[in-house]
Amino acid sequence: MRRPLVAGNWKMNGTRASVAELIEALRQQELPAAVEVAVFPSCLHLMQVVSGLEGKAIAVGAQDCAAENGFGALTGEESAAQLADAGCGWVLVGHSERRLLLGESDETVSRKFKAALESGMTPVLCLGETLEQRQSGQTLEVVGRQLAYVVADAGIAAFEKAVVAYEPVWAIGSGLTATPEQAQEVHAAIRAQLARESQSVAAQVRLLYGGSVKADNAAELFGMADIDGGLIGGASLKANDFGAICRAAGN
Ligand code: PEP
Repeated sequence: MRRPLVAGNWKMNGTRASVAELIEALRQQELPAAVEVAVFPSCLHLMQVVSGLEGKAIAVGAQDCAAENGFGALTGEESAAQLADAGCGWVLVGHSERRLLLGESDETVSRKFKAALESGMTPVLCLGETLEQRQSGQTLEVVGRQLAYVVADAGIAAFEKAVVAYEPVWAIGSGLTATPEQAQEVHAAIRAQLARESQSVAAQVRLLYGGSVKADNAAELFGMADIDGGLIGGASLKANDFGAICRAAGN
């Protein structure tokens, strides 16, 4: 039985004051014990969120980490070791905004994935196709290739301690959500690809859907056989909406 997971990606949002308000509002939310919940604030606010959510069953993660691990001369980067030391248990790797806008390659994503694991954090490996790729029938090929690189590089056993998020690029922040059937098709393909390497890893790995998940479409998406929760962007900035999505994952 896979425990549902709902993760909130706050992206490049928030000030100390608005983050304090969001922490307070999240603390008021009733969250189902059966659902694991994590939020991913900007790096600047990590420590504030870690201490602000103390005692509340919401874990904290980072939105990215350096491909190099440890400590040293790498101006402007934060390593997985530093993030773990700051209280992060999770890190997003390969978000499409980083792959497409910042030019992150599969190789870089995989190095970050391994660095997160090395520091004892759970990486959330993000995969997804662009609208053009979907329209030309390349969805499963693109997602399969992104996944295959990390499986080959990090090894299938690494996925015992990782989460995979399928996020169609065309659905992120656009208000367009994949239908539950479209999302399920890709999730099933991801699980089948992992199962070719290890049935047991594939059976236990959690696969999240991300892309304009809202309080009113979450239940339907989370009801699909291979969707184990969500990676939530915009709606995670509103505590009531995020709380409602977490509760939908518990039903
Ligand atoms: C995301 O960026 O991970 C995301 C899913 O964003 P949104 O929910 O706003 O589409």
